[in-house]
Amino acid sequence: MSAAAPMISSIRSESLPIRGQGRVLSNVVDRNGRKLRLAVPDWPGSIPGQFVMVGTGATASVPRHDPLLPRPMAVYRDLGATPECRDSERAFELLYRVVGRGTTLLSEAQPGESVSIVGPLGEGFPVEESDAPALLVGGGTGIASLYELARALAATGRSTRVLLGARAEADLIGFDDFAALASEGVELICATEDGSVGVEGRITLPLEAALTESGPGALVVCEEPPAPSFFWSESCRAEKCEREGAARAAGHAAGRGERAGERGGRPPPLLAVRARAAAARRARG
Ligand SMILES: Cc1cc2nc3c(=O)[nH]c(=O)nc-3n(C[C@H](O)[C@H](O)[C@H](O)COP(=O)(O)OP(=O)(O)OC[C@H]3O[C@@H](n4cnc5c(N)ncnc54)[C@H](O)[C@@H]3O)c2cc1C
Repeated sequence: MSAAAPMISSIRSESLPIRGQGRVLSNVVDRNGRKLRLAVPDWPGSIPGQFVMVGTGATASVPRHDPLLPRPMAVYRDLGATPECRDSERAFELLYRVVGRGTTLLSEAQPGESVSIVGPLGEGFPVEESDAPALLVGGGTGIASLYELARALAATGRSTRVLLGARAEADLIGFDDFAALASEGVELICATEDGSVGVEGRITLPLEAALTESGPGALVVCEEPPAPSFFWSESCRAEKCEREGAARAAGHAAGRGERAGERGGRPPPLLAVRARAAAARRARG
């Protein structure tokens, strides 16, 4: 490690996952998505980018076997001991969209009911102290992994921008929460293809501008494996292949990042590939 290498923040923890029941505190529609707030006894807390396996709906007195498997969901906001928590309970929130049977059943879980939880899982993102800016790029439900990361990076004093892309306003979730992070120094930039919110077009437009402005050294985090091909513009295409290969070779799964110019000192900045599918496969055994 060179003398200029950034230090990993003490925010990284070694918490072992627990298997337990989360008491539903609330489960509400939040603009275009849903938020499920759970209180879990002995919840050890999570680091940004970790996820839980959550049961598909409330735990019933009679076991239900369809769907059989729990679903992976990012820990959206780790809330600690809120006033609603009892004894050793700690609360966290999931931000989700109803897309199939499991999330439909989850959306029906009522306050006071319980859902099964295994977590926290995954490596999470390393939070590094650095003078270099951080650009967090996401779309769809993948943005749920970026909220705590944005807060943690900004708390180190680092310039932090979140870039959210969607087809239309109706596809943006968590928008109000990310906008509220302005009070913690996080800048939010949005792009929608129909222009209903933010810049009209793909997120690559503001991303390219931000990359140019940031210069070498910026940390760029993209959510979901499809993100690299979507986010890299024509001018970056040659770099993209090299970087994707490098990221895979380095075992960059589940929230590992790289810094721009780290290999050969060349911009544009590298991406962090969060291999969500691989992480979920590992969690399911
Ligand atoms: C690590 C990780 C973290 C995640 N975090 C979040 C998060 O924070 N928030 C969130 O909302 N999601 C998150 N997801 C995604 C989430 O796990 C899935 O959306 C969820 O598992 C869907 O479960 P389901 O039972 O509702 O849908 P499923 O029934 O499993 O369906 C999943 C998708 O497949 C489609 N589908 C199902 N059957 C068919 C078929 N026969 N033909 C064609 N298409 C079909 C559905 O329309 C749907 O789009 C995460 C995923 C991973 C891997």
